[in-house]
Amino acid sequence: MTAGRELAARGAWREVARGSGLLWSGPDGERVSPTIFAEMSALAARTGAINLGQGFPDTDGPAAVAEAAVRAIRDGHNQYPPGAGIAELRRAVADHQHRHYGLQVDPDAVLVTTGATEALAAALLALLEPGDEVVTLEPFYDSYAGVIALAGARHVPVPLVQHPTGFRLDEAALRAAVGPRTRLLLVNTPHNPTGTVLTVSELEAIARIAVESDLVVLTDEVYEHLTYDATVHLPLATLPGMAERTLTVSSSGKTYSFTGWKIGWVHGPAGLVTAVRTVKQFLTYVSGAPFQPALALALAVDDAPRRLAASLADRRDLRCEGLAAAGFTVTVPQGTYFVVADGAPLGFDDGAELCRRLPALAGVVAIPLTAFCRDGSGAHSALRSSLRFTFVKRAEVLQEAVARLARLNG
Ligand SMILES: *Cc1c(COP(=O)(O)O)cnc(C)c1O
Repeated sequence: MTAGRELAARGAWREVARGSGLLWSGPDGERVSPTIFAEMSALAARTGAINLGQGFPDTDGPAAVAEAAVRAIRDGHNQYPPGAGIAELRRAVADHQHRHYGLQVDPDAVLVTTGATEALAAALLALLEPGDEVVTLEPFYDSYAGVIALAGARHVPVPLVQHPTGFRLDEAALRAAVGPRTRLLLVNTPHNPTGTVLTVSELEAIARIAVESDLVVLTDEVYEHLTYDATVHLPLATLPGMAERTLTVSSSGKTYSFTGWKIGWVHGPAGLVTAVRTVKQFLTYVSGAPFQPALALALAVDDAPRRLAASLADRRDLRCEGLAAAGFTVTVPQGTYFVVADGAPLGFDDGAELCRRLPALAGVVAIPLTAFCRDGSGAHSALRSSLRFTFVKRAEVLQEAVARLARLNG
């Protein structure tokens, strides 16, 4: 509690801003500087470069789902919905988990949230005490570090190790990162930004460690349906001993290409979900009334995510071949809509510097991998020359980007 009070007195926001390198102290006082994502999007807008930095689709999701949301607004689904989410959507999430993964989920243990972002934030704020430690993979999705800091907890990232076949879990490093203060493992698979989909044996390793040390596991599975080739995503909650200690988070944004709707969900053991719901009440209270019936309908119809994954697989190949032809070393992703490309073979050892110059050099914008690493970490230096490119853009946009990037090699 003392640590919490101290943090509050200093302003936890300041810790978060400093931790993520966001706080600028100028003569006119402190201000929050834009994230690298905002900086790169602004750079794309200013220079007319193709923005392959931020990961959002440039085509909307299924028309029938959009129509269902319009209908819901017309039909008067415009006031506060139930705090846990509407019954149809909670039932649809439970059915989805059973149909795809054989998980038995009680709809009453499903909580609808304002995107996966809120589910993760509410879970971390609910379960962490100041001084607790949270182990994540590194690189990590940027909101994790911010919310862990807001909770007054300590973030312990464990680097994924880059092999020619992709970024893989290091079980020994994960085990070594877990200590007496570790409260929670936060696992993201399929993994943003590397495109790694954890294998069954990697998931088993995580499960072993979680059971041995009696940890709660929070999983971020927002790319669950975006996997390629023969790769399949398996939720950690399906492994023996895991359902009773796992909070599973996903969201409709990536699956249905409606990233702006911000409807996510979390399910798990009743006690943990109640804790998350208690915090959610004071974050947003309820989430997006007219989107909930639309997504209940979407979840009941199965083929849309599969079609998206199939079309993304082709765009992934286009993107990877283009980057390789331009001279990057490419790590082919098995999931998500991102690919990691190393600029070192082109003579660039600083990815952030390359990102700032890329609009002028090749008319394209990307994000440096170091934006997903902690300053000074081993992963930060190992990934110093790597960039993240998205391929969730129309094929003609990607083709144009391929043509432009070829200039790098010319
Ligand atoms: C996009 C993303 C999120 C956020 O999902 P929302 O539903 O938009 O809040 C969470 N985790 C990862 C890894 C993401 O890429």
